[in-house]
Amino acid sequence: MGPAVASLDGWAERARSFTERELLPRAAQIDREDRMPGEVPRALAQEGFLGLSLPQAYGGQGAGSATTAAVLEELARGSAAVAVLVAVHLSVCASPIAQWGDERQKEELLRPMASGRWLGAFALTEPAAGSDAKQLQTRYRASGDGFKLTGSKTFITNGGLADLILVFATRDPALGSKGITAFALRKGTPGFTVTSRFDKLGLRGSETTELAFDEVVLEPGARIGPEGSGLKVALGALTGGRIGIAACALGVAGAAYEELRRTALLHPSELARAQVARSYSELTATRSLVLQAASRRDAGLPAEEEASAAKLLASQAAVRIANAAVDLAGRAGVISGSPAERLLRDARVFPIVEGTTEIQERILGRALLGG
Ligand SMILES: Cc1cc2nc3c(=O)[nH]c(=O)nc-3n(C[C@H](O)[C@H](O)[C@H](O)COP(=O)(O)OP(=O)(O)OC[C@H]3O[C@@H](n4cnc5c(N)ncnc54)[C@H](O)[C@@H]3O)c2cc1C
Repeated sequence: MGPAVASLDGWAERARSFTERELLPRAAQIDREDRMPGEVPRALAQEGFLGLSLPQAYGGQGAGSATTAAVLEELARGSAAVAVLVAVHLSVCASPIAQWGDERQKEELLRPMASGRWLGAFALTEPAAGSDAKQLQTRYRASGDGFKLTGSKTFITNGGLADLILVFATRDPALGSKGITAFALRKGTPGFTVTSRFDKLGLRGSETTELAFDEVVLEPGARIGPEGSGLKVALGALTGGRIGIAACALGVAGAAYEELRRTALLHPSELARAQVARSYSELTATRSLVLQAASRRDAGLPAEEEASAAKLLASQAAVRIANAAVDLAGRAGVISGSPAERLLRDARVFPIVEGTTEIQERILGRALLGG
C-alpha cells in the first residue's frame, strides 16, 4: 500500500523515509535490548518531529492533528516504541501546556520541547489510580509562594528520559476531581526520583517507569492551568493522546498487514487471500476513522467520541492483524524476535494505554446513550 496519507506538506513522506532509514534497521534491536538508543531522539529532533504539532510561535512546526497522526503511523510502522515516545511528548505533555500554559510558561517550556532539546512525559496513573484517575493520591500543598509535591506515579512513558513531566496531584483526595491540579516538573528537581523501570511484553524500548516525589518544591510558575482544573487538563490531553495512540496502533497494524501479505504471496491459499482481504479492509477503514477524528480536531470541532472510537478500533485492528500474521506464518511466526511475533507483542499493549477498551466503550456509551 502507498503512504498513509499523501501530501500533508510532505511530512508523511519524510516520516516514511526516516522510518526506512533510521527505524526499520534498529527495530529488532530496540525490542531485544529494551533500550532506546540515544541517537534516535536526537535524529527525531533533527527532523523536526519532536516539534511537529507545536505552535510555530514557540519554535514548533505548526502541523495539525491529521499530519501528526500520519507521521506517528509512519514511525510506528518502523518502531512502535519510537512512535509512542513522540506521541506522548507531543500529545499529552507539550499540547496541554500549549493549551493551558500562560505566555511565560509557553515561552520557557515549549521552546526546548519544540527543538527536541527536552523530552516530555505525562504522569497521571498511580498504583491505586488507573482507569479512575480521580482516585489519585499524590498530594500537593501550598508552601511559601509555590507548592510541595509528595507521592508516586506508575507506568509513566518516557519517565526516565524526560526533561519535563506534566504531573497531576490533588490538594485533598476527598475533593475528588475538583481537587486535582497539573504541574510542570523539571528533571533533577530535588526530591524527585525515578524509582524503577518495567520490563514489558511489548513496546520494549519505550521507557515505562515509576516516579516518586518526596516534598518536591515547585515554583509558583509550575502550575499549569487554574488550581482544581487538573482533571480537565488531563482529559483534554487524552483526546489528542488517543488519536496519537490510535495512529501508532495503525502503524503496527500496517506493518503486520505487510507481514501477512508477504507470507500470503509466498504461500498462496484461499485462507491467505481471505485474511489479506479482511485485514486490508480493516486497516483502510480504521485509517479513515483516525483521519476523521484528527480532521475534526483540526477544524476546531469536538472529537472526543471519534478519538475514543479510533483508539478502540485501531488498537483492536493491530492485535487482530498481528495475530493473523503470526497464524499465517505458522511455526516461523512464534520465533522470538521474528517480525510478526514482535508486532503482536507491541500491538497487545495498545488496548490498555491511554484508556482501556472498556473505558473507551464507557465514554462512547455515555456520549451516545446518556447517563
Ligand atoms: C505501556 C504503558 C504505558 C503507559 N504510559 C502511561 C503514561 O505515560 N502516563 C500515564 O499516566 N499512564 C500511563 N499508562 C497507564 C495506563 O494509562 C493505564 O494502564 C490505564 O489507564 C489502565 O489503568 P490500570 O492499568 O490501572 O487498569 P485498571 O484501571 O485497574 O483496569 C483493569 C481492568 O479493569 C477494567 N476496568 C476498569 N475500570 C472499569 C470500568 N469502570 N468499567 C469497565 N471496566 C473497567 C479495565 O478496562 C481493565 O480491563 C501506561 C500503561 C502502559 C501499559
